[in-house]
Amino acid sequence: MKVLPEVVVKLIDYFESLPGIGPRTAERLSFYLLRTPASFRSDFSKLIGGLEKEVTLCKHCFNISSHDLCAICESQGRDRETLCVVEEPLDLIAVENSGYKGLYHVLGGALSPLNNIGPDDLHIQELIDRVSKGDFKEIILATNPSVEGEATAMYIKTRLNNYGVKITRLGRGLPVGADVEFADSQTLARSFEGRKDY
Ligand SMILES: [Zn+2]
Repeated sequence: MKVLPEVVVKLIDYFESLPGIGPRTAERLSFYLLRTPASFRSDFSKLIGGLEKEVTLCKHCFNISSHDLCAICESQGRDRETLCVVEEPLDLIAVENSGYKGLYHVLGGALSPLNNIGPDDLHIQELIDRVSKGDFKEIILATNPSVEGEATAMYIKTRLNNYGVKITRLGRGLPVGADVEFADSQTLARSFEGRKDY
């Protein structure tokens, strides 16, 4: 006997496919939605449906943006000689909260041979192109302190070696295996202060 209508089962499945959501939470969220006003559900679904059209990637740094250039790349108040390389937009937000004032480059992930993610799957060539223009004095490699993050930093360093730019890596403070995304802003700020030549 089917206890729940098919559409509700599907809704639960969608929630459960999201990161950090288990079956119980997926059920609770679904039943919560069923009790909200129809206008809430309609606005919510319009928002999700419009993401495709409303959100794009910044042409310079590959941060998520609503225009060709993101707010950070467009801002006149940033230090344009320092570039921080991160794996994901969420890492950028964490770094931003730590008080960093330079520019960014979002790779879109980390090298992972096991998952078939190679240099061409990330925005590495675009990074080389940006650096080759000679506008930056320092490149801070803020990929995660994981096996993949370290391998990615090492690969980028070898690619950037000939451009005469200072390359640094975040200092101690970030626990091995911890994601930049989840580091608290003070730890991350200390890690930036303690960055070392790489
Ligand atoms: Zn940007």
